[in-house]
Amino acid sequence: MTENLDKTILLLPGDGIGEEITQQAVRIIDWINGKKLDRITVTHGLIGGASYEAHGVPLSDDTLAAARKASAILMGSVGGPQWDNVDYAKRPEAGLLKLRKELDLFANLRPAIVFDALVDASTLKPEIVRGLDILIVRELTGGVYFGEPRGVEDLGSGERRGINTHVYTTSEVLRAARVAFDLARKRDGRVCSCDKANVMEAGKMWREDVTALHEKEFSDVELTHMYADNCAMQLLRAPAQFDVIFTDNLFGDMLSDEAAMLTGSLGMLPSASLGAQNPETGMPFALYEPVHGSAPDIAGQNIANPLATILSLAMLLRYSFDRGDLADLVENAVKNTLEKGVRTADITDTNHPDAVSTAGMGDAVLRELEILSGEAKASLAS
Ligand code: NAD
Repeated sequence: MTENLDKTILLLPGDGIGEEITQQAVRIIDWINGKKLDRITVTHGLIGGASYEAHGVPLSDDTLAAARKASAILMGSVGGPQWDNVDYAKRPEAGLLKLRKELDLFANLRPAIVFDALVDASTLKPEIVRGLDILIVRELTGGVYFGEPRGVEDLGSGERRGINTHVYTTSEVLRAARVAFDLARKRDGRVCSCDKANVMEAGKMWREDVTALHEKEFSDVELTHMYADNCAMQLLRAPAQFDVIFTDNLFGDMLSDEAAMLTGSLGMLPSASLGAQNPETGMPFALYEPVHGSAPDIAGQNIANPLATILSLAMLLRYSFDRGDLADLVENAVKNTLEKGVRTADITDTNHPDAVSTAGMGDAVLRELEILSGEAKASLAS
C-alpha cells in the first residue's frame, strides 16, 4: 500500500442522524491516516437544514466552493420535519439538488451487495440472493425528469393534460455509458444496458449509441441489452446474473430501489454520484452518500446504523482515490464485523437479538480493520 498526497474529502454530515453516522466514517479515515496507509485531509461543511439554520440557505456559496475544491464529498443525509414549512427553494433537499446540479453529477452508482451474514434479511430466498454483488449505473441528469416541455395544461371543462418529455442526446447517453463500461472493467467485465427500445424511439437510439460506443472503445467488456421491464423481473428471478446494469434516469430510479431491496436493509446501502471532470483536481466530481435519509425518528440516540456511510467511504476510496486495496480492507472489515454477529438495532434478528450503538458498530469495524491489517503485515513478513 502506498501513501499519496493531496486527497481532500469535504464532509457534509447534514441533518438527523447525519452527524452520528459520518463520525464513524471519520474514525476510519483517522485510522487510515494513523497507519500511514494514505494521507487524507477532511474539511467540514454544512448542508440541508443545518446550513439553513446557520446561513438561511441549504447550500452556501462557501460550501459550494469547498465542494469544487475537494477531491470528493462524503455526505450524511438531509431533511427533517422541522423544515416542512420552509419554501421549496430553501428546503434541505434543495441544497442536495443544487450540489448535484452544480457539479453536474450525471452518473449515479448504487451497488446491491448481500453480505452472507445478512442473507436472511432479504425477502427473497437465501439461495436466490446469496453472494449477490451487482452495480446499477443510472443516468441522473437527463431523461423524463428534466425534459421539456413539461407541465399541466388546462384544457377546459375540467379536462387537463399532464406532460413530461423523455429526451436524451447522444452525448448524455455516452458519458454515462462510459462510466458503466469503465466500472465493469474494474468488476466482472459485464454490462447489461436496459431500455425500452421496443416501444420508444429514444430507447432505440439509447441502444444504438451504447452499442456503437461498445464497439469503438469497450469491446473487451461483455455488453448485453435487456428491456427494462424484463430487467425488473430478472432482478427478482435471478439477480446474480447481472454485474453492471446501465440504464436511464426513470428506469434507474425504479430498478435501483428494487435492487436495493434485494439486500433487505436500508442501513447497509451506499451510493455514489459521479460527474464531469473537476478542473481543479483533474478527477471527476464525486459525491458519496448512504441511500437512506436522515431518519429523524432515531436522530441523536446513537442507535443508527453507520455501515451505509462506511461503505460509501469504501466506494470513495475505490472510485475517487483509486485505492481498491483500502476499499477492500474496509469492506472486508464490515463483512467480518457482521459475521461475528455485531448488529445495530435495524439489522438484529432472532440469532443476534442484541444491538450495539452507532459508535459501538464503529468500534467493531475498527477492531476488524486492526485484525485485517495485522494479518496483511504478517503475510508480507512470511
Ligand atoms: P429515512 O431513510 O430517513 O428513514 C426510513 C426508516 O428507516 C426510518 O424508520 C429510519 O429510522 C430508518 N433508517 C434510515 N436510516 C437508518 C440507519 N442508518 N440506521 C437505522 N435505521 C435507519 O426516510 P424517511 O423517513 O422517508 O425520510 C426522513 C428524511 O430524510 C426526510 O426529510 C427525507 O426528505 C430525507 N431523505 C433524505 C435523503 C438524502 O439525504 N439523500 C434520502 C431520503 C430521504
